[in-house]
Amino acid sequence: MCIFDFLMFRGIFAALIGHKMDYKISLRKMPVCLECGDRIRYGRTDKKFCCDTCRAKYYNDQVRVSRLYKRRVLGALSRNYEILENLLRASVDAVDLVELEGLGFSPGVVTSYRKVNRHDEYTCFDIKYIMTPTRVSCIKKISLNLQIGKNSKIL
Ligand SMILES: [Zn+2]
Repeated sequence: MCIFDFLMFRGIFAALIGHKMDYKISLRKMPVCLECGDRIRYGRTDKKFCCDTCRAKYYNDQVRVSRLYKRRVLGALSRNYEILENLLRASVDAVDLVELEGLGFSPGVVTSYRKVNRHDEYTCFDIKYIMTPTRVSCIKKISLNLQIGKNSKIL
């Protein structure tokens, strides 16, 4: 064996050892339970939870968070609608945004948005308005042509 062969053999050997070491390291990588954070010591490598209790708790928490989020958004929409409706009843079609926010209006919660010419037009159910960074104006009630489905009932 010449020196070249020896170095070549040594390089291959080192690569094999390196590969083997990587393999050992990857065996030590155990997934962590998404709920409790404990290491999952058995089962498939893509397993996400250590037990059924953790899996159920994780998904129940997600459902709870989702419901809470929906409730908050619907509450904000309802509050916005009530404020806009009161403005329409008082024949006010423009108001400062700061004043509206003082009443509890949430400018980031809307049911639709579109750009009309250079204006940003928003709707809160059947009330539309134009909103700038400082002012809400052109508040109007629009008629909605709801066609949800043949057998749908609006309660
Ligand atoms: Zn767990």
